Amino acid sequence: MSEHIYADNAATTKLDPDAFEAMKPFLCDIYGNPSQPYSFSRGAKKAIKEARDTIAECINASPEEIIFTSGGTESNNWVIKEFSNNTSERYIITSLIEHHAILNACASVEKKGAFVKYLGVDSKGTIYEQDLRDQLSLLRNNQTTTPPILVSIMYANNEIGTIEPISRAAEIAHNYGAVFHTDAVQAIGHIPVDVAKDKIDYLSASAHKFNGPKGIGFLYKKRDLSISSHNDGGAQEFGLRAGTENVASIVAMAVALQKNCKDMRTNEMNIMKCEQAFMDRLGQSGLDYICNGSEKKLPGNISLSFRGEDGESLLHRLDLKRIYVSTGAACDNITTQISHVLKAIRLNEEYAMGTIRVSFGKDNTVDEAIKIADALRSIILNKNP
Ligand code: PLP
Repeated sequence: MSEHIYADNAATTKLDPDAFEAMKPFLCDIYGNPSQPYSFSRGAKKAIKEARDTIAECINASPEEIIFTSGGTESNNWVIKEFSNNTSERYIITSLIEHHAILNACASVEKKGAFVKYLGVDSKGTIYEQDLRDQLSLLRNNQTTTPPILVSIMYANNEIGTIEPISRAAEIAHNYGAVFHTDAVQAIGHIPVDVAKDKIDYLSASAHKFNGPKGIGFLYKKRDLSISSHNDGGAQEFGLRAGTENVASIVAMAVALQKNCKDMRTNEMNIMKCEQAFMDRLGQSGLDYICNGSEKKLPGNISLSFRGEDGESLLHRLDLKRIYVSTGAACDNITTQISHVLKAIRLNEEYAMGTIRVSFGKDNTVDEAIKIADALRSIILNKNP
């Protein structure tokens, strides 16, 4: 079978070989339940502690602020739903371009009576800071009491790569006595994230986006803030998320994150070389397309909208060439629909329908980048499969 080209790293990444090696002993040899007091379990308990220390260090947090979860969806749902516990008194401000793990969690709490405000974005996908200020001011001025307000803005968008002004959004939230959460699933391990510097209160992360295993992630919760327990049961995760820990995946997640943070600059340079080569080659193709997102975007996350094309069809025709990318439009069996993100940036429909996302990762090569651009040119100009 010929080699394939994987360029969908924003969807998931390949497990790092060192992370894979690190998890093996905890599956086969050091398999004792970390909650047991006997010596056979000590290795597992120690490994969890060390993984927590490592992860905390990578984002400038304290170990007791890291709670292991099953990934981004769980961490996001946990924080959003915490704010619907007392529905009549709870407010959430988020954005229109969040991942569905935020948007659907918000829709769910809205049904229970919580008030949710969705902020619009500009044509590059950046929130309007003044809009956030205005909404917070409106909420505070309409209240005689000061009910809890949660502001949840994603660190970087998964579809178009735009990096949001997180530090300033957190500052604005705090100025109005709100707490600040960020879905940093696409950012962690790829761009520097410092929870202390950015004054983040809650943060969601997922290992499979930074070359760790699937089904594991974490929630950062600032030390002095509370959250209700996710599961009731044992005392794991400071009594907040009961259940025997996924030791092997926790260990592998820490190895992957530490490695990605250490190699961030080198990885970014390689990814940007791929991005540049791809964009240069595509620029010479004569194709009519728009590149979405902001100048301040995730390295290697490239959203392109080809005029008059169908993104779903482009994806399948690339698939036939064993090139794997993603579309910016969501497809059900009958119709292709423009994604909520492309709608929010008000992308012209003629282009929006022909959107694909190419996302390079640390293992991609310039040769692959050029091959993808050539394949797109050949598919679109020749209309061949
Ligand atoms: N948030 C963002 C921005 C994402 O891109 C994703 C995954 O695509 C998620 C949340 C969900 O993360 P997980 O797959 O770990 O549940």
